Amino acid sequence: FITLQNIQKSFGATQVVRDFSLGIEKGEFISLLGPSGCGKTTVLRMLAGFEGPTSGQISIDGQDMTGLPANRRRIGMVFQSYALFPNLTVAENVAFGLKVTGTPRSEAAKRVEEMLGMVGLGGFGARYPFQLSGGQQQRVALARAIAPRPRVLLLDEPLSALDAKIRISLRSEIRAIQRELGITTLFVTHDQEEAMSMSDRVVVMYGGRAEQVGAPSEIYNRPASRFVAEFIGSLN
Ligand code: ATP
Repeated sequence: FITLQNIQKSFGATQVVRDFSLGIEKGEFISLLGPSGCGKTTVLRMLAGFEGPTSGQISIDGQDMTGLPANRRRIGMVFQSYALFPNLTVAENVAFGLKVTGTPRSEAAKRVEEMLGMVGLGGFGARYPFQLSGGQQQRVALARAIAPRPRVLLLDEPLSALDAKIRISLRSEIRAIQRELGITTLFVTHDQEEAMSMSDRVVVMYGGRAEQVGAPSEIYNRPASRFVAEFIGSLN
């Protein structure tokens, strides 16, 4: 469904992604896992269309993404920092993406309610972001990302600014919503527990390369390198 083929990415003389290839099935939940600076976010940004690869090819659903601007890729995103519009209500925040994609008004209002219900925030539509907790703000960000029914969901460390208890409950909530919608999802994290507990498959990245790609149990039981074993903690 998503194909990344021999992707290279350099900023000036620094190569941050090296010969990265990955195929993602429709409906799959995949994590990009690795230490800070290994190139995870850069891969996500190339999929989103915020950066172009130096070389290599990205396609979604058989369509070549090269040259397709970010706003036409039908991709939803959630970042680490909530990035909600502070001067818009919760409902207006969620409606924002629907306006951009040209959903008719009457349908938009219904969809906003439906999405807020899905993330457990029914009845919160009239509040402003500052009146919500961090976890609630990330739920709004998720509702906003999925409201236009994107074909791909990109999540960049969406839980890392939250406290442990909320982080853990949001893991399963995100996964339940992802399953319900059947939306192909790429999740970036440096937290191995998060990646291993949430994903169908995990891509362990190191120095811009995919060190290993596999189901969590496979990576845990048969790490492809010492780096993977140490990072996953299967050596301890
Ligand atoms: P983190 O979890 O810390 O965000 P990451 O694995 O997501 O790490 P990236 O953000 O993809 O890593 O960055 C990979 C490398 O590319 C880093 O060394 C970073 O400094 C560099 N880099 C990223 N964006 C740019 C840019 N626009 N210009 C120059 N260098 C960049």
